[in-house]
Amino acid sequence: MIIVLKPGTEEARIQELVAMLEALGVIVQRNNGVDYTVLALIGDTTQVSQYPIETNDIVHKVVRIQEPFKRANRLFHPPDTVIRVGGHEIGGGQFVVAAGPCAVESEKHICEMAQLMKAAGAHFLRGGAFKPRSSPYSFQGLGKEGLTYLARAGRDAGIPVVTEIMSIDMIDEFVKNVDIIQVGTRNMQNFTLLRELGRIDKPILLKRGMSATIEEWLMSAEYIISEGNENVILCERGIRTFENYTRNTLDIGAVPVVKRLSHLPVLVDPSHASGIWWMVEPLARAAVVAGADGLLVEVHTDPKQALSDGNQSIKPQKFDRLMKEIEVLASIMGRPLRAPGEERT
Ligand code: PEP
Ligand code: MN
Repeated sequence: MIIVLKPGTEEARIQELVAMLEALGVIVQRNNGVDYTVLALIGDTTQVSQYPIETNDIVHKVVRIQEPFKRANRLFHPPDTVIRVGGHEIGGGQFVVAAGPCAVESEKHICEMAQLMKAAGAHFLRGGAFKPRSSPYSFQGLGKEGLTYLARAGRDAGIPVVTEIMSIDMIDEFVKNVDIIQVGTRNMQNFTLLRELGRIDKPILLKRGMSATIEEWLMSAEYIISEGNENVILCERGIRTFENYTRNTLDIGAVPVVKRLSHLPVLVDPSHASGIWWMVEPLARAAVVAGADGLLVEVHTDPKQALSDGNQSIKPQKFDRLMKEIEVLASIMGRPLRAPGEERT
């Protein structure tokens, strides 16, 4: 952080400000220019940011040269974060795919989906037990029962599971039953939930808020990491724009931006990004070549009868084809679907 002082400021006032800043734990380097005195702050400026420096009457302007997110920042942690779940490596150069229905609809259905996803080569099974629906009258998910079905389906098929959490009181259940806990777009800024998830030892898949900037998204990751849980996986799932042909607009550019700014892995969800089943395939391909670490895809055996998001769900046969395409593209990008030595089971 750089603080430029107003010309002609009294020496005593400058010293008073410097002493206050030093008391906040930063090193203050002073540069007396012809017109302006400039103070460069070195070290952790988190405490300083709490003070209204800009409104101090001797301050001309404040230039923040540090991004507000620190632990999620690549400057803080230059190598890529690699998260190991169920024998797979997320962010470690392997391209991973999480796939399954939008919601857990019944024990039989999720078990069938688990077998199909595993056979197609997906690394993780997705399925929502707690569904954050826009309408209170839409299917809200099977809740705790759904969580049990999902866990059983994953265990029987030998595929780790990912599912969305909506409230703090379910954390213990999720820790017991789930391999990756998803925070949905609507809860990206539920800071109380994020902080609590920062205190557990379980990877968190943090979806981008539908109206969140990249910086806000990374700040949400910071909430989790700052409490101690460093295993955060980001997921770009489309944002709201003026375009309304698609449900959301896939911000494909966010992938290279996030990879540059942060060391965290980033997945792309082409299903929620488009809301249209025939767009899933082209957007998935784009995600691979844009440098994403993986995909989150909605698949359903009978999309027309799906209890949620049928319109954006692809059928298992199409998913099979998609996986084959992805495998080729990902290997061109130097990101095999399997880690070295990892057998396809
Ligand atoms: C989901 O993955 O099922 C979901 C609800 O996603 P999002 O939070 O991105 O809308
Ligand atoms: Mn969905």
